[in-house]
Parts: sequence; C-alpha cells; structure tokens
Amino acid sequence: ECVVNRIAAGEVIQRPVSAVKELVENSLDAHSTSINVVVKDGGLKLIQVSDDGHGIRFEDLPILCERHTTSKLSTYEDLQTIKSMGFRGEALASMTHVAHVTVTTITKGQLHGYRVSYKDGVMEHQPKACAAVKGTQIMVENLFYNMVARKKTLQSTVDDYSKIVDVISRFAIHHTSVSFSCRKHGAVRADVHSVATSSRLDVIRSVYGPSVSCNLMKLETSDSDPVGSIFSMDGFISSSNYMAKKTTMVLFINDRLVECTALKRALEIVYAATLPKASKPFIYMSIQLPPEHVDVNVHPTKREVSLLNQERIIEKIQSVAESKLRSSNT
Ligand code: ADP
Ligand code: MG
Repeated sequence: ECVVNRIAAGEVIQRPVSAVKELVENSLDAHSTSINVVVKDGGLKLIQVSDDGHGIRFEDLPILCERHTTSKLSTYEDLQTIKSMGFRGEALASMTHVAHVTVTTITKGQLHGYRVSYKDGVMEHQPKACAAVKGTQIMVENLFYNMVARKKTLQSTVDDYSKIVDVISRFAIHHTSVSFSCRKHGAVRADVHSVATSSRLDVIRSVYGPSVSCNLMKLETSDSDPVGSIFSMDGFISSSNYMAKKTTMVLFINDRLVECTALKRALEIVYAATLPKASKPFIYMSIQLPPEHVDVNVHPTKREVSLLNQERIIEKIQSVAESKLRSSNT
C-alpha cells in the first residue's frame, strides 16, 4: 500500500469526529429520515452510522474505496459549486486507508442487501448478499490502526466522544425532519436523541436542555447585494438570561455545517457591547447564499468559510442581533 495515500487520507480524516461528520453528511445526502450513531472508545475502536436512506448500488461498491468516487456530481451545477462544497468523493476512500470499513446496504426494490469490507484502500472480498433493512450501515473499525503517531496524539477518548456528541447535536438541531441518535457502544441511553418533525425549539430543548431552549430569541433577516443576489439568515440567539462561559455557535451555510470565525467574533462583540454583564452567547444560524459566494478554505476538515461580501453580511447580522438584544433587555 502506498504511504502517500495513507498520509493524504490522514489529512482528510484527522480525528474520529471528522469521520462521523462525513458519514452523517452522506446519510443526509441519501435522504435519510433516521440516522443512528454508535461509538466505541471515542471512535477509535468503532464508529457505526446506520441510516434509512436510498442505499448504495451494487455496482458502486467496488469503487467506494477509490478517491474521487462520487455519485453526486450531477447534483452540482458547476465546478464552482463543487469547490464551494469542499472536497468531493474523498471521505469514504480516505477512511478505507486508515481504518477497517464495512458497508452493509440495500437499495430500493431489492430483496436482499450486500455487505463488503475494505482495508488498506482495497476491497477485501466481493460483496456478499445479506439480509438488510432499508438504507446503509457503515462501520469504521480500528481507526488509525496503521498510523502509530496519530494514535498516540489521540489519547483522550473522552474528548473525542464529546466532540462527536457535539457534532451530532448540531446536525440534529438543523435537520429537524431527521431523527438522530448517538450513543456509546453497549449503552442503553443515547447521549443525543432527537425526534423528527419536532419544532426546532423542541429539538434544541431535547438536545441542549431547557436552560438553552428557554432563553432563545428568534432572529431573521435577508438582504440583496448590489448585484441583486439574495442572502437570508434565520436562527436563534440567546437572551440575557442565558448563562455560559463560552460561545456556542452552530452555523449552517446552504445546509452544510461550517465555521465562520469572523461572524462568531462579530456576534461576541455585539453581546459584550449590548449585554455587558451577560454571558457568552448561544447562537444557531442557518444562512442561505448563492453557492458561488461561499468559499471553503483549503483544509477539508476545518470547514472554515469566507463569504463574498462578508463584511456587509456580518454588519447586517450584527445590526439585527443588536436590536433584538436591546429590545429584549428593556
Ligand atoms: P461524496 O459524499 O463527496 O460523494 P464520499 O466519499 O463521502 O463522497 O462518498 C462516496 C459515495 O458513496 C457517495 O457519492 C455516495 O454515492 C456513496 N455513499 C456513501 N455513503 C452513503 C450512504 N450512507 N447512503 C448512500 N450512499 C452513500
Ligand atoms: Mg460525503
């Protein structure tokens, strides 16, 4: 096996949580309505993601471990859009280089499913027919088994598990028509459990607790830039009654979980200026923008974005947040 492939794969999958994020996004792309995650040893021993989506076709199974295998190109209008969505067709192939991956899947109208395993970037055997319920289950075992240095730097499985719980919580509050669960292997109780069709505030309550959901205010705005394209934002921000030591910013742009440090900082400034005695905020925001206005930075795992007309957008959001905070505080 080529070491270069393994190193490149380790760049795409930096920690267990990066694998979880990619697997869950694939389940969402497959139009799942229920996504269940099981984790052992912070994801190093096992990450298992089961969904009820459209499944993977038999003929696609042998090529899943090849980079740039994606069934999704037709859904992206142009190269720019592909770029703005980040790296494509890399995630699963990368996982097969740094873990033992087993896929069980069934597509619509089939009488049975298939199971197949991959290791060191290749399929270990031909897909075997097996019983399967609707959708796909992907098991990622012994992550980084072939990367001794990486394994050593990832000693805190507690920390990795809490990162996974955090990312599933974020998906759950954005994708309210999908049920999510996340639990430790063997545990009866799930650490995240959301029910589809609940209102977003209900999901926030069940995932983050009433101390968050009871202290949120709705925030909305939209705008057109000088050439007429539309930006819209819809979300919740915490009021002065909310107490926390650090900011939670859950940001989705065009339904992708991303980070935008500039926007986060700008909102922290508004809180500090408007509610000087209050805590750091809790913010959930969903922003829709023309895809060509979103630039995902080079690193596939970071998901740090910058936006065209970023200053204008940030100022707009700052001003609605500020007036919301002022009016609630009087
Ligand atoms: P990408 O998501 O960028 O296409 P991935 O490496 O994440 O690349 O996945 C490769 C392909 O495997 C996807 O394009 C899709 O066809 C298929 N796939 C992966 N996971 C699932 C899933 N849970 N349900 C259906 N298809 C899946
Ligand atoms: Mg993917």
